[in-house]
Amino acid sequence: MKQKAIARGVDIINLGVGDPDLPTPSPIIEKLNEAAANPNNHQYPSYDGMLSFRTAVANWYQRRFGVTVNPASEVLTLIGSKEGIGHVPLAFIDAGDLALVPSPGYPVYPVGVSFAGGSVHMMPLVKENNFLPDLDAIPKDVANRAKLMFLNSPNNPTSVVAEKDFFKRVVDFAGEHQIIVCHDAAYSEIYYDGKRPASFLEADGATDVGVEFHSLSKTFNMTGWRIGFVVGNKDVVAGLGKVKTNIDSGVFQAIQEAGITALESDDRLTDGLRKIYQERRDVLVGGLKALGLELDSPRAAFYVWIGVPKGFTSESFTAHLIEKAGIVTTPGNGFGDPGEGYIRMTVTTSKERLAEAVERMKKIGW
Ligand SMILES: *Cc1c(COP(=O)(O)O)cnc(C)c1O
Repeated sequence: MKQKAIARGVDIINLGVGDPDLPTPSPIIEKLNEAAANPNNHQYPSYDGMLSFRTAVANWYQRRFGVTVNPASEVLTLIGSKEGIGHVPLAFIDAGDLALVPSPGYPVYPVGVSFAGGSVHMMPLVKENNFLPDLDAIPKDVANRAKLMFLNSPNNPTSVVAEKDFFKRVVDFAGEHQIIVCHDAAYSEIYYDGKRPASFLEADGATDVGVEFHSLSKTFNMTGWRIGFVVGNKDVVAGLGKVKTNIDSGVFQAIQEAGITALESDDRLTDGLRKIYQERRDVLVGGLKALGLELDSPRAAFYVWIGVPKGFTSESFTAHLIEKAGIVTTPGNGFGDPGEGYIRMTVTTSKERLAEAVERMKKIGW
């Protein structure tokens, strides 16, 4: 439908993509330029990542979350967090094994599990449970059979943020049922109103049961660079590392050096970005609420999760918006069945274009 609208010459407003529209901050680019010229960086990097990068990660965890990790054994550099999320099931899931996966959710979780030969038990994220997984609703035999659990806060696609007490309940659950927790924190630094989301590793005992995946992609507008990391339980880190030594050969060192510059900058490079997203969020959320749509203003991440009006499905409302108003959104059921009845919009577009999208929606009605 999008291709057809483009072919008709429609001026498309794309609120479907989860990719920052702003450039990587210049100090990071300058560091890459300098590091790329150094011949020491032209050979194969170490599999685990440069110790200097992993140390920068550990220092950042200490400053940002008050969590102490050993850079030598509890941190691994990834070729983007998607790479690690997709590969971790190969280390721990055998044919027929079970993994717990949030739904709606990032498609890489169930796909990674199925590539490893495992199957998935969906944990529905629904409004009645504040869009958090309901641990009590997981049947006991399923919990006992499960080897892995994926979690994601701040969440894509709902933007919901889990609190530390939820993470603590997850730690207890995972300890009781011997489950490895893989928490995806790709959006931890995209937050609003000064309220910083917690790390899973802040919960007591978290390092005994799991790891946290992180990315420079969303935080520093570096989606094209491919650099992320995993932090936490050393056996889980080592298992993923062992898979990776057989598949890839690490991240270009010049990119890791630029990554150090990014992590050491703390909030200097990111405060401005958060401010821009927050202004956009306010324009979009204010406009959509005035149109009578059902949604919560996101506290973090750059997604708005919107209930479709009566008489529509995820698909038919998505179609209505693109055909009548040239607005591209993502149907919620594309993230899993419990996403039916929702669409997802992103704030990775200028506030002028977001205001224009709201104006167009007001005109077409439903
Ligand atoms: C964007 C995204 C990622 C991964 O990004 P990378 O660029 O691979 O680091 C991971 N999880 C979620 C939920 C995302 O939306």
